[in-house]
Amino acid sequence: MRTRVVAGNWKMNKDLSGSRELAQAVARAADASPSVEVVISPVNIYLGAVADTIRGSKLKLSAQNMHWAENGAYTGEVGPTMLKEIGCSHVILGHSERREYFGEDDALISQKVRTALAHDLTPIFCFGETLAEREAGRTQSTVEKQIRGGLEGVSSDDLTRIIFAYEPVWAIGTGRTATPEQAQEVHQFIRSLLSNMFGTDVSSKIRILYGGSVKADNAAELISQPDIDGALVGGASLKPADFEAIIQAAR
Ligand code: PEP
Repeated sequence: MRTRVVAGNWKMNKDLSGSRELAQAVARAADASPSVEVVISPVNIYLGAVADTIRGSKLKLSAQNMHWAENGAYTGEVGPTMLKEIGCSHVILGHSERREYFGEDDALISQKVRTALAHDLTPIFCFGETLAEREAGRTQSTVEKQIRGGLEGVSSDDLTRIIFAYEPVWAIGTGRTATPEQAQEVHQFIRSLLSNMFGTDVSSKIRILYGGSVKADNAAELISQPDIDGALVGGASLKPADFEAIIQAAR
């Protein structure tokens, strides 16, 4: 039985008091659904304040990005030990917005995945095809390339510590969700790819989240698919009642 995960990516939204308020509401929802691993990912500079707010609850804290080095001359960056020290247990890596706007490629993402694992941070490793790639029939080859690239150098012993997140780019923030069948088809492909790469025992334990316009009213059907183990949620994670409904859908 794989523990389901519902993770909220707040992106560059919410001020300090809004972050605290939202975190408080989500902490209550997480404590009411102990069978679900609930994670929030506020803006970096508010991570410490949010960690204080949710202390004592089951809610887990994630960064939205991380540098691959421990420390050094990397102006503006934050390293893994700093995130751990401030209370993070998870880190989102390879999000399509990082790939698109900040030029992150598979090689860089794999460095970050290895760094996160080495520092006992759980990577939420994102990948997914663009609309053009889907329409050209390249969904599976794109996803396979991103997974193989992002896992470069990762030991098979560490695989189950990674949370995978399939996020078709055309569904992120667009209101256009993959149908449960479309999502399941890709999730099944991902699991069989991981099975070929690392064996069935490992692949059967890996959590694969779906992300892309998950809302209160479509979460249950998506998460009930056999190879979908939860959701990575952007827009709807900023609305406490909607996010709570998605958590409940994962119970
Ligand atoms: C995301 O950014 O990871 C995401 C899934 O966003 P949204 O839910 O808004 O599509």
